[in-house]
Amino acid sequence: MLTEELLRDSKKYIMNTYNRFPIVIIKGRGALVYDTDGKEYLDFVSGIAVCNLGHCHPKVTVAFQKQAQRLIHISNLYHNEPQIKLAKLLVENSFADKVFFCNSGAEANEAAIKLVRKYAKEKLNGSRYEIITMEKSFHGRTMATITATGQEKVQKGFEPLLPGFKYASFNNIDAVKKAINKKTAAVMLEPIQGEGGVNIPDNDYLKKLRRLCNDEGILLVFDEVQTGMGRTGKLFAYEHYGIEPDIMTLAKGLGNGVAIGAILAKDNVAEAFAPGSHASTFGGNPLACSAAKAALETIIEDGILFENCIRMGDYLTKGLKELKKGSSFIKDLRGKGLLIGMELNIDGKDIVMECIKEGLLISCTMDRILRFLPPLIITKEEIDSMLEILYNVFKRIR
Ligand SMILES: *Cc1c(COP(=O)(O)O)cnc(C)c1O
Repeated sequence: MLTEELLRDSKKYIMNTYNRFPIVIIKGRGALVYDTDGKEYLDFVSGIAVCNLGHCHPKVTVAFQKQAQRLIHISNLYHNEPQIKLAKLLVENSFADKVFFCNSGAEANEAAIKLVRKYAKEKLNGSRYEIITMEKSFHGRTMATITATGQEKVQKGFEPLLPGFKYASFNNIDAVKKAINKKTAAVMLEPIQGEGGVNIPDNDYLKKLRRLCNDEGILLVFDEVQTGMGRTGKLFAYEHYGIEPDIMTLAKGLGNGVAIGAILAKDNVAEAFAPGSHASTFGGNPLACSAAKAALETIIEDGILFENCIRMGDYLTKGLKELKKGSSFIKDLRGKGLLIGMELNIDGKDIVMECIKEGLLISCTMDRILRFLPPLIITKEEIDSMLEILYNVFKRIR
């Protein structure tokens, strides 16, 4: 009754921008969530790579509660302690020297695009402004970030797009070489494409890209909104590839569910921003920063979290491989850590719905790629339960 009423009101009062599944989630703990009918679900979506420490992680929740009683918001006209401490922690654990805080992934990428342009104006003799991004990339839903996103379906209906973007195919160094010209200021990409279907680059691709950017004197920007915060088995995905970007954007997992985004940069790049260059009312507010600080401290201090991520990633992949053997409609399986994609040669939406009925949340991207994004604290037993559900759903389809 309550559920039906909520679903009716949702349709009546909320803009129709999502194809939502017909359940209303009211609480969560670890890798489990519960709906209005009291039904339990194993969550292999984690709010799309957001709740990397699981739902309502006690350290994050307590930090959030304490800060909510102390100070929720104060303008960036003044300093605030959680913002400073979070920035320090991010810098100490990354390639970067400076941080700017905002509220989402799109905003972080928007800021990165602005920083590239400002840097290019000041340090690349003023004639460079173009940014090369990748086909099948995803960078957000603002005007600049849908332009950066190399997917027509995201851009359609919103033209004219922002000038100054060019696209190259992912994992193809020659395509980037071809796209570079005298106007190029930066190459911007996800080290591993998430929404584009969990596309993993060859081992040497990012290294080649780094060298190319150095040779051309242009910036390398990594969008780690999805791959960051431990998701791939390291704090940031770039650490797998033995190179560093000039700018990196973060959001999703940064606050473990509390809205926060950030751009990180080396000093020589960050210098291009001066007072007045960029700002955000809510960016870096004490509440969000306290939650993110607690999340980041937990990830860093945990000790076995990355190990668990890699071990469970392998275990899950092995289980999925077994499923692949017996199914004609599974085309490919790929992933890093607990960012795992299973490409089908049929539509994935019905499978996702069947899984929901069986008490399992998984997601589907690019129509045919099932994506598995459990929290990094996931256990063997939970993976076994999930594989059993998936096995039964697949059996019905096969
Ligand atoms: C989700 C995502 C974004 C957009 O983040 P929002 O917080 O939804 O604006 C940008 N880049 C990547 C790689 C993402 O996965």
